[in-house]
Amino acid sequence: MNSDAVKRHLDRLAGEGKSIRFWLRDDDAVQPTPALQRLLALTAHYPVPLVLAVIPEETGVELADLLSVLDHVRVAVHGWSHCSYSIPPAKKQELGLDRPITEVLAELQAGFAKLQSLYGLQFEPMLVPPWNRIAPEIVDALPALGFESLSVFGREKQAVLSVLNTHVDLMDWRGTGGGKPADQLFAEVLACMIAEKPVPSIGVLAHHLVHDDNAWAFLEQLFALTAAHPACRWVAPGEMLRARAN
Ligand SMILES: [Zn+2]
Repeated sequence: MNSDAVKRHLDRLAGEGKSIRFWLRDDDAVQPTPALQRLLALTAHYPVPLVLAVIPEETGVELADLLSVLDHVRVAVHGWSHCSYSIPPAKKQELGLDRPITEVLAELQAGFAKLQSLYGLQFEPMLVPPWNRIAPEIVDALPALGFESLSVFGREKQAVLSVLNTHVDLMDWRGTGGGKPADQLFAEVLACMIAEKPVPSIGVLAHHLVHDDNAWAFLEQLFALTAAHPACRWVAPGEMLRARAN
């Protein structure tokens, strides 16, 4: 089982006095739902810091009130409306150049301001582009809007601001549409851990609204294996950014 291989690797690292950073990003929150409550309870239990990428346009005080008492949650900006402006068959994209860039930037600024005022100290000045896609011209404009980091999927690429990516996606979007089998996900985690050029922090990507039993079971199993392991640290963006600066 690949979960055993992950554990063996972590045990080995612990023996060498080394550790690996993990972080958790979950996308598409707008309002309180039973699925979100489940995610919040699970992450509070272990505890694992959680970055919740919230879609600004329709969200409001209901979600902010729920999250405000949870120390382990930070809120990032998930586009503005999560609408796609690309023309099929192009892949879905909100933050592309399919409309004037000034319009896109104005929406991102509104999203930043809205979530900052709703969340205060819980607000993370991080942009999480819907569908993990963003035009390079828009990335270049992010620092002027106040963003300090960007998070997409895959290997980090150099940009004008810090990039804190996710690398293991729980969902099998193109196949079953459900959660990938746990054994496959542990293999992906292991691949990140033993990669010749390691990622700065292994980012796990969740989507609570569409989790099936596979997805929930994997998260539970991953946290049970790693959260208290001496070679593993689940971190919040602040710690990743500080690690970057060193
Ligand atoms: Zn999304």
